[in-house]
Order: sequence, then C-alpha cells, then structure tokens
Amino acid sequence: MERMDKTLEILERLIAFPSISSESNRDLIDWIAAYLEPYGARCQITSDTDGKANIFATIGPDVDGGLILSGHTDVVPVAGQDWSADPFTMREEGGLLYGRGTCDMKGFIAAALALAPEFAAADLARPVHYAFTYDEEIGCLGARVLVDEMVKAGLKPSAAIIGEPTSMRIIEGHKGCCEYTTEFTGVEGHSSLPDLGVNALEYATRYVSKLMEIRQDLPARAPEGSRFDPPHTTLQICELHSGVAHNVIPNKAAVGWEMRPIQQSDRDYVRERIESFTRDVLLPEMKAKNPVANIEEIFASEVAGLEPDPDSEAVAIVRALTGGNETEVVSFGTEAGLFQQGGVSAVICGPGSIEQAHKPDEYVSRDQLAACLEMLGRVAGQLH
Ligand SMILES: [Zn+2]
Repeated sequence: MERMDKTLEILERLIAFPSISSESNRDLIDWIAAYLEPYGARCQITSDTDGKANIFATIGPDVDGGLILSGHTDVVPVAGQDWSADPFTMREEGGLLYGRGTCDMKGFIAAALALAPEFAAADLARPVHYAFTYDEEIGCLGARVLVDEMVKAGLKPSAAIIGEPTSMRIIEGHKGCCEYTTEFTGVEGHSSLPDLGVNALEYATRYVSKLMEIRQDLPARAPEGSRFDPPHTTLQICELHSGVAHNVIPNKAAVGWEMRPIQQSDRDYVRERIESFTRDVLLPEMKAKNPVANIEEIFASEVAGLEPDPDSEAVAIVRALTGGNETEVVSFGTEAGLFQQGGVSAVICGPGSIEQAHKPDEYVSRDQLAACLEMLGRVAGQLH
C-alpha cells in the first residue's frame, strides 16, 4: 500500500479515539501496540494511576544510538467549539484532512507508524524508537514518565524528532514554561492591633517585590545572539489574592507567578534567589511574630525549554533528512526539552501549522503529510 494511503488509514483510526487530555488514552495505546507487533517492535507501555499510558516501541537492533520519533497522543477538548462536523470522524475536503488532532499531532504519529513496515524490512544498524505519550497538553506529564523510564532502562538513543506542527520547519529551541503559586499564611486580627496578627498580604507583596528585583538581572544573563523573542528569560506576577476588609489583618495571601526560561540556569538562578529570600528573611520574620505563620509553594509546574545547541545531532539529522538548512526558535512549549534533559539531542519538525492547532475544524493538509513522509522515508537510510 502506498505510504500516503496507509498514513490516512491510520490517521482516521487515531482520530476516532477521543483521547482528550485527562481522559484515558489506553485503548489508543493498545491499538498502536497491536499494530506494531507484526513488525517485530519491542513495546514498553508505562502508565499512570488513572490508566493513561505511554508507549516506547523499538524496531531494529538492541544497541545504543538510533532515532526517536516522538509525539503526544492526547488532544485538547472540543467543548464549546463550533465544529462543522464530528471532530472525531476524519473527513477530507480539498486536500485538507479535518478532525481533532489531525494537526496536533496525530498526523505525525500516523506518518511515523505508516513507515513501520519499511523500518522492519530495512537492515537497520541502529534502531528506530517510537515514543508516544499522554497528557502533553496539560504539562507534559506522560513524557516525564517516559523519559525517566528510558533513562532508568539505560537506553541511549542519540536523537529525537518531536513531530509537533511546525509546517515541517526545523525548530531547534523553545522557551520553558514554569508556573508557581506561593501561599502565605499569617494570623488575622483587628487592624487596630497589628502586633497581634501576622499580615500575610504585606509579606506577599515583599515576595512580589523581590521577584521583580530578581527579574531585572535576566536580560543581562541571555547568551549573545539569542534568537528568542524577547531574547531573555521573562518573569511575571500574574495573580495576587488576599484580604476581606479594610479593618481586618489578612491571614492568607496567594501569589501566582510564571517564568519562561530560555536556559535552565536562569530557572535555577531565579529559584535559588527567591527561595533564599523566603527562607532567610521572610519566614524568620513571620515566625518570630507567630510560629504558625508559614510560606508554602502550593502549585508548581515546570516544563523544560529546548536550549539551542550548536552541535545538535538531532538538528544535523533532520537537516540531512529534509535537505533544509534554516533553523528557528518558537514560543510554544513541547516535550523536546524533557528529552534534552534526559541526554537525548532533540529537534522539533512536523506536519501542519500550529495556527490550526487547538481550533475548531483543525486540519492538516495532504501536502504537509507528504513532506513528512518524505522526511521519514529517508530515516532507514540514515540508520544503515
Ligand atoms: Zn502538540
């Protein structure tokens, strides 16, 4: 069967699984495992306590190196969106394939799976690995587990292509996304007797001021020639909740803040400075007034960025596969940074445009899938 026909057949099947993040994707993962089995793939399924699952499947010899083809199997919800037809029934019109996840990012997964018979038939010197995850859209939860397991198992693939929709452009970097909520617990009291209470809101504002002070250091920390926009790590305070009335000392305050690090060292720098200020200054002052006072991080979600690497093996491989030379950086996050942290060189290149992602009537074009199949069709040759 033609590569494209096979891709469309698989894509239609994948779209029919309504694998919205937070719902179980287990039937989809089991379907992929059953599909890969006849091609001699060795499948590792890892799952969370809710039954959501990743699959890591290998075709080719059991040796280090090789290439990971990576994608997330979850899709964003369709609730409240105005679709022209059932989002989970793929339909084609004018060379465009519509359905939730066609672009982000089951199109890439279908193309990668369609090549399995060719990978199996080729005499590969190094393996092809499929890494398909759950819950990317809600914080890359599945990829954290998958990369951990991969490292624990001693697997050392040399590069990963993350097939997020980039219109097949080669993306070598993106910022990370770190979100935090810090909660201050004080002691309430009448405003006329401030010494008897601990004003959580006032401590929260000092914390906020400190973050704003730390942020002033960030522009100077950006490496020269940084192509990010803006070129440095950013940090913002986005929420401050506290207080009930003018005459009541607030006993609770919560600060929501986020940063978008261009490099892991910036993330570490900000964290260390704000943590030492909290530990050495704010907390002792609060506890001296009343030992029940406290500062606690009640929410933290950190998705690693992908740091551009001039010696990236993944970028070199995708350049060879596509014949493209240009690389870019983007502002959306992916699982690529997690692979990079796991010691695997990573690059993002996949069919479809991010502009179609997450929207009603999401689509990927046949042309984009054809370009992706052309790239993947050269993988076996690269791993000879
Ligand atoms: Zn995606």
